[in-house]
Amino acid sequence: MLGKSRIFVLTGAGISAESGIPVFQGTSWHGHSHYELANIEAWERDPALVWQYYSDRRASARDARPNAAHVALSQWTKELNAGSLFLCTQNVDGLHEAAGSEGVVHIHGKLFESRCAADCGQPAFADHKSYSAGELPRCSCGALARPNVCWFGEQPYHLDRIYHELETCSTFMAIGTSGSVQPVASFVGLVKQRRPAVPTIYVGVEAPANAGSFDHVHLGAAAQTLPQVLHSLTRFLQHPRNAGH
Ligand SMILES: [Zn+2]
Repeated sequence: MLGKSRIFVLTGAGISAESGIPVFQGTSWHGHSHYELANIEAWERDPALVWQYYSDRRASARDARPNAAHVALSQWTKELNAGSLFLCTQNVDGLHEAAGSEGVVHIHGKLFESRCAADCGQPAFADHKSYSAGELPRCSCGALARPNVCWFGEQPYHLDRIYHELETCSTFMAIGTSGSVQPVASFVGLVKQRRPAVPTIYVGVEAPANAGSFDHVHLGAAAQTLPQVLHSLTRFLQHPRNAGH
């Protein structure tokens, strides 16, 4: 059974909240909502303001450390033996990588990378800098550089690969994601519609908006709840008929 296991894990802001990374919902930055600033229209109107915002976000994320949930996922990947995990995160922080996870797919990009705003073809580059007010970094082609993140109004990254994994996974698990932001909110429903036998599991503080599509909803902070859920899931994967989770 483990040899056939392909576990799709989707993580959202809830898994990073306990590391001190603020969630978007219900919070703001200098009177602006995150939805207003993490937005292609904001960039087109005022790139300096958007860079101030991302410089602040870099500053607050720089010292964040992975919590027990990030660590548990990373360790679990190594314990899965013949099974394998596809880890897709909505989080732009690098906390999964900081906990030792490899091959993480960042559907919304990475906070500590920048890229050419004119898509000149240069690859994205590591950029940990917080720029001072009015300072606008540039690509080597002369165009403005922008944070390598997906904004509202833009196509998320790696969708072809992600939809392929959704078609082929044997278990789907979502952690700390509200179930209200598309397209990720539709992932669990896609799995359930096409292959109802695939177990779907949710872990997070509050039931997500799409809770009805999950077979199992474990309410609790991920750092406390996830290690036990992963332990039970390992037993289920080894003995699918006689172990619950
Ligand atoms: Zn360029």
